[in-house]
Amino acid sequence: MSMAIPGDGVIDEGAVAFVRGVLESAASVAVLSGAGISTDSGIPDFRGPNGVWTRNPGAEKRSTIQHYVEDPQVRREAWQIRLHSDMFTATPNDGHRALVELERSGRLHTLVTQNIDGLHVIAGNSPDKIVEIHGTVHRWECVSCGARGPMDEALDRVRAGEEDPHCLFCGGIVKSATIMFGQSLVAADLMRAELAATEADVLLAIGTSLSVYPIAAMVPLALEAGRAVVIVNAEPTPFDEHAIAVIRGSASVVLPALLAL
Ligand code: NAD
Repeated sequence: MSMAIPGDGVIDEGAVAFVRGVLESAASVAVLSGAGISTDSGIPDFRGPNGVWTRNPGAEKRSTIQHYVEDPQVRREAWQIRLHSDMFTATPNDGHRALVELERSGRLHTLVTQNIDGLHVIAGNSPDKIVEIHGTVHRWECVSCGARGPMDEALDRVRAGEEDPHCLFCGGIVKSATIMFGQSLVAADLMRAELAATEADVLLAIGTSLSVYPIAAMVPLALEAGRAVVIVNAEPTPFDEHAIAVIRGSASVVLPALLAL
């Protein structure tokens, strides 16, 4: 049986009822969220049909640490893009809010997000439940001395005329506090994510192409540990055939249906 979702195609109502049962009987649920949970907040993903990289493959360069450090022009462009980025004005949607409800129900083990937009924190999930595995755009960091601060500080300097603001402590190159290609993840964050995948009864993967490693390995880790994997995504993922349920649809519509208490 299916229910029609205005503007979002058709979502399998039987699968929704099944997954509701799985989630309600789980003592703990780990979540891995990706860019797809934030597209309905107006932030494009990278690899979906309207993704930033699908439309402009050159944009990937700005997210690569080697290019960023070596090329002042790449940095100047990156600061202009940050200045006008939707990430700083976007607000959470019903998908983010449903995960706040999951935490209120006492069953959220850990919310691992690949997103750098900070919308899970803004929605109201506790910061200590969240692992921002790829960092956050809401802070700046110095590549040389590791100093950090609120992104607004750095953006104010760009607004005041600095095209490529450098660290006020050591003069080093400043970037957003995100993990760029070519950088390693924070080991403690990765350990928390891996532990969540193996400890929680259910792993719920939402709005992610499950193609960015090492974090996508949460799924095979959960499967090897005998945990149930549920996938909510607009498009197929490489792990669909191993999940106990796959719900195709928009996270902002599907998650409230799955998690409304
Ligand atoms: P991705 O772009 O690789 O995949 C996103 C997936 O979400 C796609 O498979 C797409 O079909 C699906 N999707 C799009 N809209 C959806 C919706 N409304 N509901 C359900 N699914 C939807 O993203 P990823 O797997 O998260 O990994 C890409 C990397 O890009 C991450 O490392 C992340 O750091 C970064 N990123 C973050 C943001 C953000 O912070 N909002 C945005 C773009 C990219």
